[in-house]
Amino acid sequence: MPAARPALFLDRDGVINVDQSYVFSREGFEWVDGAKAVIRRFNDMGWWVFVVTNQSGIARGYYTEEQMQALHDWMSAELGATGAHIDRIYHCPFHEDGVIPRYTRDSYDRKPKPGMLIRAMTDFPVIKERSFLIGDKQADLDAAKAAGVRGFLFTGGDLAAFADWALADMGEGR
Ligand SMILES: [Mg+2]
Repeated sequence: MPAARPALFLDRDGVINVDQSYVFSREGFEWVDGAKAVIRRFNDMGWWVFVVTNQSGIARGYYTEEQMQALHDWMSAELGATGAHIDRIYHCPFHEDGVIPRYTRDSYDRKPKPGMLIRAMTDFPVIKERSFLIGDKQADLDAAKAAGVRGFLFTGGDLAAFADWALADMGEGR
């Protein structure tokens, strides 16, 4: 078991990539300014970096879990080219209003519920008190709160500058 470290939880759409609704291909994937730099920076600081993303487009039949995985593999390769990595991407494919039967249900993983964050903190040794989430919706912040970590609402701009501010607000300094 590795040593416990703080974790940065990132929502995907609207935080890592521009939210263009149900993004599932690299053609539709536009990196948010500073996103790669933030991930690299927290890697270098020795933090875990987790992505927690609702992907109801899978339940709704807009794209498959395999298409999402291919996109995530590409994302990871792009990050790798800059020396950055995500420790694990958690996604929730479920939604009550889906059309694909096996994904059509409520889930404790779907934000604002905290299942994905709690799983990350079970799968990895996380120093919860120092950890925080960056999301672009209230549901992200609600999930963080329910998991017992702080949440910061990102409304656009440069993610690296925003993360610096959040870190300072967490009392982590530079
Ligand atoms: Mg989002």
